[in-house]
Amino acid sequence: MIVCKFGGTSVADAATIGRLVRIVETRLDDRPLIVVSALAGVTDALLALARAAYERDAGKVKEGLDGLARRHASTARELPGGEVALDAIEEDVKALASEIEGTTGRMPRPADVDAIASRGELWSSRLVAAAMAGAGLSPAWVDIRPIMVTDDRFSRATPYTQVLNKRARECLTPLIDAGLVPVTQGFIGATPDGVPTTLGRGGSDFTAALLGAALSASRVEIWTDVDGLMTADPRIVPAARTLRAASYEEAAELATFGARVLHPATAMPLVRAGIPIVVLNARRPEQPGTTVAPSAELERVGDSPIRSISWKKGITVINVRAPRMLGAFGFLRAMFEVFERHEVVVDVLASGEVSVSLTVEDRSRLDAVVRELSELGEVWLEDRRAIVAVVGIGLRHTPGLAARLFKAVQPANVEVISQGASAINMTFVVREEDGPDVVRRLHAEFFGAC
Ligand code: ADP
Ligand code: ASP
Ligand code: MG
Repeated sequence: MIVCKFGGTSVADAATIGRLVRIVETRLDDRPLIVVSALAGVTDALLALARAAYERDAGKVKEGLDGLARRHASTARELPGGEVALDAIEEDVKALASEIEGTTGRMPRPADVDAIASRGELWSSRLVAAAMAGAGLSPAWVDIRPIMVTDDRFSRATPYTQVLNKRARECLTPLIDAGLVPVTQGFIGATPDGVPTTLGRGGSDFTAALLGAALSASRVEIWTDVDGLMTADPRIVPAARTLRAASYEEAAELATFGARVLHPATAMPLVRAGIPIVVLNARRPEQPGTTVAPSAELERVGDSPIRSISWKKGITVINVRAPRMLGAFGFLRAMFEVFERHEVVVDVLASGEVSVSLTVEDRSRLDAVVRELSELGEVWLEDRRAIVAVVGIGLRHTPGLAARLFKAVQPANVEVISQGASAINMTFVVREEDGPDVVRRLHAEFFGAC
């Protein structure tokens, strides 16, 4: 079997859902399982509703809910057979309206926010299943929540893989064996008690990979709006080229440092079984896309030292200066314990003899982190920074590369430079406004024209 995941832009409206159905038709012999995101923009709209309710903006809540209901209803009506989905969606919009009303004026609890955000995938999957039935396919709509059992860290929940593997096999395999095409939701899950959770923004890719691993898929297809994994984000570098292949490690590093095309955790569940990920363009399904597979096969093919350049903004650099760390052991451990206690993820680390610089993306628990770090040394922050990451297996073995990298980055003020432990990435921290330019200069140096 295979897993086919369709992102928001591939389920944006009736036309794109129609195209999805035609793509699925070409995959029937592979026994596909379909995973979908919410219609483009719907998750953002749902989160905005939660905020509007908190701000007691009843007009905005009503307008938002009506807009979502209208959009789903008109999409359903435009799709042959789509009206079958209407009742379930309309009923759920009503349920959502009263849930949101219940949060009016109070800070929504993380559980409330996840319950609200998870609606988009529930609705889009109804539309897709109805459209598939309308086209003569045999879909089976599946609620993923009893299968995707997670912990209760709302908005960034972690699935319990053993439970999920067992339930996926019990619930989904019989459907596929019966010749049906299961259609289910990315991004969402539920606690063992059935409370809805989400896996983090962009999490549908991760869902597809988890289900692919659970069902021993022969590949996981990620259908999106670009031809595959590219040498840079084409929105920044219009001349970016599509890669035919990349390793799991490279894909994970690129995603961690801002290549939104794949969620950073996508490769993780697939590594052990060596299941390939194929990134494909739903607008140009005839293109070969990018195959992300175990690195061993790739190194034989490898030619260019760098595979791709990514960047992400909204980064804060935390500097800790502690003269007594010179020659003292236990300092780094004490420092990392602070981050661990507050569950703050560190992306990049560079350390000198008496100081350490780290980068974090999530500022929500920063005050507490800084307070505790101040007990270890002098702490100062630099915000509005960006990380630019150059990624490629070739970085491991190409002499003279550092000089080219530094030359390309040089006009910008580079504040932290770091090489990942796996030696397949080199990261630079720059001011946010310099990020796109640094990406373009590096791209010009390693891949030619911008
Ligand atoms: P989906 O809704 O299908 O999940 P996303 O918007 O999450 O799609 O991801 C696709 C987008 O990722 C592309 O439109 C592109 O702008 C962006 N992107 C960033 N870096 C890269 C890269 N290295 N290769 C391809 N796309 C990239
Ligand atoms: N709909 C979710 C989001 O916008 C999940 C996804 O698209 O992968 O983040
Ligand atoms: Mg995405």
